[in-house]
Amino acid sequence: MRKALLVKYGEIAIRGKNRYLFENQLIAAIRRNIDVLDIGHYIKKEQGRLVIYNKRSETDVEALIERVKVVYGVLGVSPCIISDEQDFESVGKLSLEYFKAAYPTLPENTTFKVFAKRANKGYPMTSTEIGAGIGSIILEHYPHLKVAMKNPDVTLYVEFRNDAYIYSETIKGVGGLPAGSSGKGVLLLSGGIDSPVAGYMMEKRGISLDAIYFHSPPYTSERAKEKVMDLARRLSLFAGGKNLYIVPFTEVQLYLYDHVQPEKLTILMKRIMLKMGELLAEKTGGLAVVTGDSVGQVASQTMRSIHAVESAVNLPILRPLAGFDKQEIIDIAHEIGTFDISIRPYEDCCTIFVAKHPETKPKTSIIENIEARIMSDLKPLIDKAMENIEIYEL
Ligand code: ATP
Ligand code: MG
Repeated sequence: MRKALLVKYGEIAIRGKNRYLFENQLIAAIRRNIDVLDIGHYIKKEQGRLVIYNKRSETDVEALIERVKVVYGVLGVSPCIISDEQDFESVGKLSLEYFKAAYPTLPENTTFKVFAKRANKGYPMTSTEIGAGIGSIILEHYPHLKVAMKNPDVTLYVEFRNDAYIYSETIKGVGGLPAGSSGKGVLLLSGGIDSPVAGYMMEKRGISLDAIYFHSPPYTSERAKEKVMDLARRLSLFAGGKNLYIVPFTEVQLYLYDHVQPEKLTILMKRIMLKMGELLAEKTGGLAVVTGDSVGQVASQTMRSIHAVESAVNLPILRPLAGFDKQEIIDIAHEIGTFDISIRPYEDCCTIFVAKHPETKPKTSIIENIEARIMSDLKPLIDKAMENIEIYEL
């Protein structure tokens, strides 16, 4: 008998060739996440599941589960035991031992069910026969229990695959698709509440995101930068790693401040950020730029403003929060553990760069004309900032 962690992932979308890719990406992300635990793990593919063995008996299983369940693509994890023999008698005996250890005492009339699954089609019994057979073994030793097919108090799972797996609980995973299985992109990550949530949502759909942050010292503090690093680190937990690019943005921002009317500053700054995000994507193979915009939330997120920034880049701009209320965004931020970092009181953008009354209905052609006029002076500053980008692997 061996102990392990059984990992479930979504199977429907991943038939044929994609399946290998999907599984390999999932394994890579899990591996990066649990390497830090230093448990001498070994991950095996097993007919629609992954099995994580740890070679050290003193392994903290709780810590292992915490780091596996958050990996994109993981639907659930189950601590399990694995039978060395596949014959019904051995598996039945082991199932009973497992049940006894898991539920030493159960009150009168507790309902239970054995949920059997036979992925190994060569096995000489059907799932129903296995379930009924193991159910009666358990009933012999627990005559006061009752079988219930619907909503039982206790369920024992027995899965026949290449090996036979026995477990009784599944801890819910984050779901989604593994990092990288939908390609790459660039996330404009500020220190606010919204952009980390936007990153989480797109990464959950399998887009591996490099984060880019525009830093303007001394107008933005070292602490604001640390905050963004902590946010990126938190996001890295789900993706099994993350690169954060910090752009020295001061010269670009001061140039804009000196050459653009205050009420148009925000929108032009946004266009330049998007362009620099796109420049990074060209280097990293990104196919989209992701922002935390939510329609109507602030001046730069009106439909007119969204229209006025669209032509800044050729890549698609993904705005997963477009249709979310602030409270809905905050709820997700709490769930993924970014909220408390985001609300630390260090501003991501100094107030001198924000107009009192930013334009809420910018005219796209006017914005494009202003940009075209200043671009020859601005381009060298943009290129210089991109050359001096700092990279952190988190
Ligand atoms: P957030 O809560 O994400 O900061 P916000 O509500 O403050 O968003 P804006 O300041 O208009 O809204 O920013 C919109 C988006 O632009 C952000 O979600 C982020 O994707 C990007 N962004 C803004 N400032 C920066 C920055 N300094 N570095 C990187 N991206 C930024
Ligand atoms: Mg912000």
